[in-house]
Amino acid sequence: MADTFLRIIPTEPNCVPSVLSRERALNVLRRAVPMAEDVSAHVSGGVRFVDCGADFESVRCPACGADIGEWWAEAMEIGHAQQFRDLRITTPCCGLHTSLNDLAYSWPAGFARYSLEALNPGVENLPDSVVDRISRAIGQSVRIIWAHY
Ligand SMILES: [Zn+2]
Repeated sequence: MADTFLRIIPTEPNCVPSVLSRERALNVLRRAVPMAEDVSAHVSGGVRFVDCGADFESVRCPACGADIGEWWAEAMEIGHAQQFRDLRITTPCCGLHTSLNDLAYSWPAGFARYSLEALNPGVENLPDSVVDRISRAIGQSVRIIWAHY
């Protein structure tokens, strides 16, 4: 059986909510996915790439739509070597100044220090009301990432 991870990250990669906010967000998610095998929160020392598992297909330029997958793989290596301290990039196709976090990933993925995670949540979708409550708890808009392995 394949595993599904529901991952929730703040829109701002460096955002690490307070202990109390993290506790609140975790409780909201726990109540929303009672069937989940595990619900947990993670905080890392540096920004990491929060991937979407096997669904990963392509990365495109958000301005012109060019497939920049090969270039992206190199940019990720360089970014990883400097622990993603600086996510700013200029796309090779049309020179757009943007961030690795804002490229057009075919399936949502992103960068974060803080993430909330539910293993095999037993739901296909997280209701907007739950997403809202989690954003309010951490004081930030969030990105929802579904990863399948
Ligand atoms: Zn472009």
